[in-house]
Amino acid sequence: MNGGKELTEMRELSAAEITKAVKDLFIDANINLGEDVLAALHRALEQEESPQGKEILNELIENARIAKEEGIAICQDTGLAVVFVELGQDCHVAGGDLSEAINEGVRQGYQEGYLRKSACHPFTRANTGDNTPAIIHLDIVPGDTIKIIAAPKGGGSENMSRVMMLTPSVGMEGVKDFIVQRVRESGANPCPPVIVGAGIGGTFEQTALIAKKALLRPIGSTNPDPELAAMEADLLTRINNLGIGPQGYGGRTTALAVHVNMIPCHIASLSLAVNIQCHAQRHKEVVI
Ligand code: SF4
Repeated sequence: MNGGKELTEMRELSAAEITKAVKDLFIDANINLGEDVLAALHRALEQEESPQGKEILNELIENARIAKEEGIAICQDTGLAVVFVELGQDCHVAGGDLSEAINEGVRQGYQEGYLRKSACHPFTRANTGDNTPAIIHLDIVPGDTIKIIAAPKGGGSENMSRVMMLTPSVGMEGVKDFIVQRVRESGANPCPPVIVGAGIGGTFEQTALIAKKALLRPIGSTNPDPELAAMEADLLTRINNLGIGPQGYGGRTTALAVHVNMIPCHIASLSLAVNIQCHAQRHKEVVI
């Protein structure tokens, strides 16, 4: 009995199709730098005043061209395999389980794309051998499609990222100071120019997740919240006044963008995450 309500028909998705999509996305993401990043690098080149800064930006653009033309990775650090999944609630995955389908796609992609396997045991440092396990973030959404975003994340920029539980009294100015300070202390380590993803609010783990999701927004886009858009513009100016410059050789281009996500937090907390992303800003997506 269904209480008189119509039953929604489930759309069937094959696990094999998901595996193939994940494999193709990781190869594509590691080889083909996004058009938004390339455009931002070209814009930065026009505005950069430092000769060393200009030289590095030219090299990054040239590096992206060679990677694309020769089908090789943009950077030797091909990252841990971060996967964002938006699974329509009217979908059914058939012929295998979703996590294993994604992990198999990572396995195949890193093998067939000649991508370095970077996942290891935290203490023994023994490599897992196939870049699994993938880091899978799953959202259940309306609809009968699945959206998969592959976002390989390099270690150098991830190491410079932080989650902080601030006291609410620091307010917006305190949050901005922490973000700028984090970029200043990171110096050349995250391979600038960087993209800064900031998450404000939520619980400890949620803050980090929304900071990482902020990195997925196209560079050059405007935050739909005018207050956050103004905050991003101010932060970008302050960060680019630090003088770290491309690869830390000095110059105006320390960051290509600052993206902020904000959600409500506990009355006792003001959580902040700063997820730093290097110029090898890689993410590709597909909807099946
Ligand atoms: S931080 Fe980015 S550009 Fe630098 S080595 Fe790691 S992945 Fe490559």
